[in-house]
Amino acid sequence: MISKKMIPLVNNNSVIRAMFEEGKVMAARYGAENVFDFSIGNPNVPAPDEVKEAILDILENEDPVKVHGYMSNAGFEETRAAVADNLNRRFGTAFTEKNIIMTVGAGSALNVLLKTMLDPGDEVVTFAPYFVEYGNYVRNYDGKLVVVPANPEGNFMPKMDEFAAAITPATKAVIINNPNNPTGVIYPEAVIREIAAVLETKQKEYGTVIYLVSDEPYRELAYGGAEVPYLTKYYTNTVVGYSYSKSLSLPGERIGYIVIPDESHEAQEFIDAATIANRVGGFVNAPSLMQLVIARCVDAKCNVEYYENNGKTLYEGLTKAGFTCVKPEGAFYLWMKSPIEDDKEFVAAAKKYNLLMVPGSSFAGPGYVRISYCVSHEQIVRSLPKFEALAKEFGL
Ligand code: PLP
Repeated sequence: MISKKMIPLVNNNSVIRAMFEEGKVMAARYGAENVFDFSIGNPNVPAPDEVKEAILDILENEDPVKVHGYMSNAGFEETRAAVADNLNRRFGTAFTEKNIIMTVGAGSALNVLLKTMLDPGDEVVTFAPYFVEYGNYVRNYDGKLVVVPANPEGNFMPKMDEFAAAITPATKAVIINNPNNPTGVIYPEAVIREIAAVLETKQKEYGTVIYLVSDEPYRELAYGGAEVPYLTKYYTNTVVGYSYSKSLSLPGERIGYIVIPDESHEAQEFIDAATIANRVGGFVNAPSLMQLVIARCVDAKCNVEYYENNGKTLYEGLTKAGFTCVKPEGAFYLWMKSPIEDDKEFVAAAKKYNLLMVPGSSFAGPGYVRISYCVSHEQIVRSLPKFEALAKEFGL
């Protein structure tokens, strides 16, 4: 018999995952080339060559006891120092290995951070539409997710009065994801400054500590050299959860890190607690081989231009077909307005054309759909006539 806490999770099992499974069934039935699966954010761009070279070299030349063994729960010092150095060079920060904890991707980074900071009943604020797992992660520690409404007229930048109104004395954290899944927008520096100002004011007003949790799986996927502000520079109580899942195309390897800056509230206590949270949460430490890979490949880059080109082709094709879309600025998602109010009904209709997308309501963004374009360019080009037929069906 499963726990009461698990029952709603089982009942609401991820729509995205369900769609991914459905895509596999459809591919078997119609042939993979005839199914246009835009459901999941699984990078199609291969990991950079340096990653393979590093794996082979490590396996060939490093001590296997080290490669496959336990290490400090925070991770290998050399990896954490390499990460700190990389951040300092790029963002003018002053981190050392002490500020970095290696994690099992961003999912575990967020869980470790939330486990470290939340007491039951604490509130965590985020901006709609948002990555649906946030609610589950927050509930893991008996917190409550509070959602700031979406602002479609303002390119999905949060309205500051609504953000301020969402913060109460029970607010422990705010989660921000930039570049954003599912909208593909980048919050610019001006918006970050406004968010930081609201948080400073609220901390003073309530005499509380409010953490800004920067969820960063898409940091490196910013188009046309767009700047993604480094949040620790704007707000003292920022903590970061980063992932190499998308930036180095390593989602199955489960590797990422947390940053806890010295200037954040009771930093050393928080670092110690987060290291223990990593252990007692059952992650113990991030995968050892991947940590050693990151130490060597910390400056490696994936082919961001590929995603940028995909986003451009898709955006142009869909707008030409009559759809209303948010222009992608980063990540690899296109956020498109459903031509009917019921986005689930629209997604179901699209399946007739073997087009798989995720309803926006799965991201607290009803009336929209998410199209994940980390697929071959060819798939995008071949899907456009299908989207055109779909547009016609809905009178666009
Ligand atoms: N946060 C966001 C916004 C995501 O989109 C994802 C994955 O898609 C994650 C976190 C989790 O990433 P990871 O694979 O590193 O656990």
